[in-house]
Amino acid sequence: ATSSATNPPLMIGDLLDAGVRMAGDNPIVYRDQHRHDYRTFRERVHRLAHMLTQQGVSAGDVVAVLDWDSHRYLECFFAIPMIGAVLHTVNIRLAPEQVLYTMNHAEDTFVVVHEDFLPLLEPLAGELPRVRGYVLCQETPKAMDTPLALVGEYESLLSQQPARYDFPTFDENAVATLFYTTGTTGNPKGVFFTHRQLVLHTLGEASAFQAPGFALLSRDKVYMPITPMFHVHAWGVPYTATLLGATQVYPGRYEPEMLVSLLVKEKVDFSHCVPTLLNMIVSAEAVAAGKVDLTGWKVLVGGSALTPSLARRAWALGIDTRSAYGMSETCPLLTATILPRHIEQADIETQLPWRCKAGLPVPLVRLQVVDLEGQPLPEDGESVGEVRVQAPWLTQAYYKEEARSEELWRDGWLHTGDVATLDSRGYLTIRDRIKDVIKTGGEWLSSLELESYISQCPDVAEVAVIGVADDKWGERPAALIVPADLNRPPSNESIAEFLEQFVTQGKLNRWAIPKVIRFVDVIPKTSVGKLDKKRIRSEI
Ligand code: ADP
Repeated sequence: ATSSATNPPLMIGDLLDAGVRMAGDNPIVYRDQHRHDYRTFRERVHRLAHMLTQQGVSAGDVVAVLDWDSHRYLECFFAIPMIGAVLHTVNIRLAPEQVLYTMNHAEDTFVVVHEDFLPLLEPLAGELPRVRGYVLCQETPKAMDTPLALVGEYESLLSQQPARYDFPTFDENAVATLFYTTGTTGNPKGVFFTHRQLVLHTLGEASAFQAPGFALLSRDKVYMPITPMFHVHAWGVPYTATLLGATQVYPGRYEPEMLVSLLVKEKVDFSHCVPTLLNMIVSAEAVAAGKVDLTGWKVLVGGSALTPSLARRAWALGIDTRSAYGMSETCPLLTATILPRHIEQADIETQLPWRCKAGLPVPLVRLQVVDLEGQPLPEDGESVGEVRVQAPWLTQAYYKEEARSEELWRDGWLHTGDVATLDSRGYLTIRDRIKDVIKTGGEWLSSLELESYISQCPDVAEVAVIGVADDKWGERPAALIVPADLNRPPSNESIAEFLEQFVTQGKLNRWAIPKVIRFVDVIPKTSVGKLDKKRIRSEI
């Protein structure tokens, strides 16, 4: 048997100590409002731990946080798990009744809340019987009139605490974090991660981020997340940035003008975000008009596929984009587009398709693409199957949801529900979600691919494709289209005519041309801006 004396457990606190040793003077920045160095950051984590303990929070308790991306949130990332409690990063984009569901399902007993979310929590508080107290975060301290059981304001509570906490060492398999996915079917599902998993994810991510062409984080780099900290710990990057001692900039609520001004003023080297957000930034007035210089900014894009056209637009502004792939259930990092040497050296047009693949599995990730029987498919860039993975940082189950967990974990693999191909160099390309793929005449038709062909038609502003039941074929594709000119929508025939070229090029089967097309003003989206295929199905 091993003992913790000779085989010390992996603890999140060690990531923080490494960062302070590496870069004690480097700043942690909050908007244009506040900055302090890493040593103060650590001191504040110790003070927060004292405050939580004083409020009766102990090992195993679940502490909810509702805040925009901030230095305070970063402190919660460390202090809460470091005392053995569990950090619940509340998804504030869920509907109020779902926020309530997640807070009760997680059994939150203590809450750290930014003043902007009081209107969300106040009507729910009566239905949160387990919560013993709320700590309020304010931009400028002022008296608040609220029915919540406030124990005080974050800053003033911290200032009353000793600067040094004697953190315990405990089982590395203790749960550190918990949060809920934005699933569109049924109740939100909880995923959870242990100290051991988060430390290993941080080390895996740190090694991937040192890959050729990446060099994303170090003491000399400036990092700013544009993926919310409540969403998969901002891809775990705040932990990695801390480990490596990077300067960290937290932008608060995402407002395009503030984001752009922080990028420029703080000389941000590296961010990560979904394509929609990158699109918003490159379209921001100051950026598009060439009034600000974003040259050298590196952006890791994930959550949905990066398209060559967005990558090209970014490149024209000097922005270096690459892709990463993962999901809430996987902590999240699985793959990243580390380019082959000969592509890294090629011109940008040759690089773009490679940068838009999901990429190579990062160290310690085992990844397969399998058929319906679970047999690995040839790595030929064409054989389409489901992605399944093993890694030391995958959620072990959905929190308190046995039945749904059996779907996720089968035969010792986590099933992602993503449909993809692997090419001969081991690069993954995501083709679709398994539930969105159109199963027609015994074949799989990717809804994403068909959407990409239809979206190239100049008369089309936006498109969503789904499968509809068909007696003969099982399913047939149907499309929802927002016309480029709402007053002059194209016809079914003109769309079919446009798609003929892809049939001629051998890219599309003629039967894949949708017969059912509806022209609409808007296409339903989920809270994170992805096409809401469930609602779309009900509209066709
Ligand atoms: P949610 O499931 O709440 O929408 P997640 O962040 O867990 O949020 O979404 C994960 C899913 O997003 C993946 O299963 C995959 O379908 C998609 N995804 C993530 N990264 C990529 C990528 N680089 N390319 C294509 N799809 C991606």
